[in-house]
Amino acid sequence: MTFQCHVCGSQEAKQEFVQEVFQVNEKPVLVEHIPASVCRSCGEMVFSPETTEMIRKTLHGEAHPVRTMQMDVFNFGQFPEEVGVV
Ligand SMILES: [Zn+2]
Repeated sequence: MTFQCHVCGSQEAKQEFVQEVFQVNEKPVLVEHIPASVCRSCGEMVFSPETTEMIRKTLHGEAHPVRTMQMDVFNFGQFPEEVGVV
């Protein structure tokens, strides 16, 4: 399979296991150890159709989470007052 990054057009990718947050019923869930092609140029992650299908089955099927964690959510560019002024 020939890789071509849909963001920057680079054809060089490395195979990596990544983690990604998905929304399921408006609830964020984290999936770890997803095999992905990662663009060497810009870092864009691309999942194969098989991988995408497997993620869908995992999230909407009978699979149970292996662990639960709390997530801190940030707004981009939002700092507390005291560090906001440099
Ligand atoms: Zn790229």
